[in-house]
Amino acid sequence: MEEQITGKVVAGQEFFEQPLIGNFKNIHTYKLAIEEATKEEMSLVMKNMMTGSILLGFSDLHLEIEEKESTLRVRIDGALRPACNFTPKIHKAIVSRIKLLSGLKLNIEKVPQDGRFTVVLEKPEGLEEIEIRVSTIPTAYGENIVMRVLNPKSLISLEELGLRSDLLKLFEEQAGKPNGMIIVTGPTGSGKTTTLYAFLKKIRNPEIKVITIEDPIEYHLDGITQTQIDHARGYDFASGLRSIVRQDPDAILVGEIRDLETASVALQAALTGHLVLSTLHTNNAAGTIARLQALGEIPVNIAPALNMVVAQRLVRRVCKHCGKPQKISPELYQEMLEGFKTISPKVPLPKLSEDSEILIQNEKGCEFCNFTGFKGRIALFEAIEIDDEMEDFILTCPSIPALERMAIQKGATLMKQDGYMKILEGITTIEEVRAVAG
Ligand SMILES: [Zn+2]
Repeated sequence: MEEQITGKVVAGQEFFEQPLIGNFKNIHTYKLAIEEATKEEMSLVMKNMMTGSILLGFSDLHLEIEEKESTLRVRIDGALRPACNFTPKIHKAIVSRIKLLSGLKLNIEKVPQDGRFTVVLEKPEGLEEIEIRVSTIPTAYGENIVMRVLNPKSLISLEELGLRSDLLKLFEEQAGKPNGMIIVTGPTGSGKTTTLYAFLKKIRNPEIKVITIEDPIEYHLDGITQTQIDHARGYDFASGLRSIVRQDPDAILVGEIRDLETASVALQAALTGHLVLSTLHTNNAAGTIARLQALGEIPVNIAPALNMVVAQRLVRRVCKHCGKPQKISPELYQEMLEGFKTISPKVPLPKLSEDSEILIQNEKGCEFCNFTGFKGRIALFEAIEIDDEMEDFILTCPSIPALERMAIQKGATLMKQDGYMKILEGITTIEEVRAVAG
């Protein structure tokens, strides 16, 4: 069913060149230009829209229809921005084209559908295939479409996650362990999948078997077996995990732990010679144990199985091309001084003084950052290693704050502290850090 669209790299950039950055004059021109379009023109619109989105690093495209017109909004660095408008007629033509490409039923308009298609970019260095995940939903004025760009460039290594040197060392050690469990926590859109895939990239090698169970499979990784849950056929996280364990794996990735059954099988697998990676919805690393207990697990099963719990949030990076160096404000200096008090001497702290220079975003931005002042995102991390001492402590059923205090004593840092360090390194701003780790 899967079709492909191909496009030249240059064509796509022109589609979004001006509209994206708020020059609405051009959006208008564009709208007029395709008030009516032939089939050939439509396919050019699609081609340009898709290649442009990939090149400009959009993660999602939202095509939304209202009474009089349709809007294309694009997500970049976590935020949606209006990109251009279409007439309802063009909207319908684009929707049909996308549905056709992704193997969806054209005559079904009142029921949500999911599909995928592939965009092939012709680049000087060769062809590049990028998958687009599509979902449709019926609305009062027609179908809305959301497309997720599954750019393999998002598959980064542990080294590229932006970890501090002490955390990188810890993550690498953990990836090398033959058994136990690593849990990454955070809300949707906090980069958990990116971190887990970075672990998988580190782990995979021809000598070990890696199997995943995901909902859905986002990125295809060579050298590992990936499976996708299918409720209709009874393949869910818990039952899938049971089957996977019988496949003699060395490492297993469980997309998410949502219920007691999955938690139990995953913890059991971790205790019986498998390295298990998974995610959980909690606010902070210390909350992981409480969350597993809330699902119904008991500390005796949790403590010996866990190797490390990580919490993370994404912040925007200040654009390196137009960011403005500035002396730290006395208030922020005091805040950081206070914030760094609990940090263990093992953590390499950047130099903090009243004269420390930080980077703030340029309100006007520049061409490089699409005139936003920010370019790209980076995660703030909080990681707790569960060593023997920590394991014993968990068995005493400590409260979340008590567990956090113990972790800090043993050298862990909180997301906010990691944020302060990233501010001092000129990577992000205090507003960004407060927004996610207040
Ligand atoms: Zn810039």
